[in-house]
Amino acid sequence: MGRFTDKVVIVTGAGAGIGRAACIRFASEGASIVTVDMDSDGINETNELIKEAGGQSHGVVADVTVSSQVENYVNEGVSAFGGIDVLFNNAGIMGHVALLEDYEEAIFDQVYQVNVKGVWLGMRHVKPAMQKRGGGSIVNTASGAGLMATPTIIGYGASKHAVVGMTKTGAVEFGPDNIRVNCVCPGAVNTSMITAIEEQSTELGAVADPSEYANLLNERTPLGRYVEPEEVAALVAFLAADESSIITGTAYVIDGGLSIS
Ligand code: NAD
Repeated sequence: MGRFTDKVVIVTGAGAGIGRAACIRFASEGASIVTVDMDSDGINETNELIKEAGGQSHGVVADVTVSSQVENYVNEGVSAFGGIDVLFNNAGIMGHVALLEDYEEAIFDQVYQVNVKGVWLGMRHVKPAMQKRGGGSIVNTASGAGLMATPTIIGYGASKHAVVGMTKTGAVEFGPDNIRVNCVCPGAVNTSMITAIEEQSTELGAVADPSEYANLLNERTPLGRYVEPEEVAALVAFLAADESSIITGTAYVIDGGLSIS
């Protein structure tokens, strides 16, 4: 018996990075998984990996910024597996790297649509399904950027502060229904998102080359390296599982100590 045997887990942003690692983790512990992403190829690849891990999944192509598509991924999950126990509300975008005064307005709006509205819609539409199960666990992906200053990524940092705030609101409003809401705040995680930040910081002239960005960050990090997506997945699984049954409204930092150094 795994921690997620007979549990149904929705993962958004399942087609890459942290979302994919979480899918494999949940699958290896017995969950049935609803894999949600805009990228159908990414979903297909993740579904193959879930199968290899001995799990089962149902892919749904959806844009998390569109309310009807969010409602649909919940409904498809209920139809496929009978209910929903966990939502890993993880899809997010970085936007671009630019100083505050140069940051593009359209990108600011786009980052807010995905990172803020998408997370709100996920919590909103999954609630009825979780109520029917007698409770559930929602884990939102915030960021270390949701707790600290974020020079050169103001839209992203603002959006992740909003995720931390929405997590607290969700925890208070959903608590009486036995639905827990927490968020994870990763530092730099080894996915395509950090690669894009390294490259754009180089283009901006903030560093000489992408490896310098990584070196500077890792020198400031007590554990001296980026976080691996599988390490975030392990924390997400803890917050999703019954063993964290009294934990709600929290923002868990996972960053190798970067934020305290
Ligand atoms: P990633 O780019 O590898 O994966 C993100 C996935 O989300 C992609 O598959 C993409 O297609 C999907 N997606 C984007 N917009 C979508 C939309 N509107 N609807 C549906 N799917 C959408 O990035 P990642 O590093 O795995 O990021 C996952 C989450 O972790 C994000 O919320 C990100 O902000 C957060 N995060 C990442 C880091 C990091 O350093 N990589 C650090 C802290 C937090």
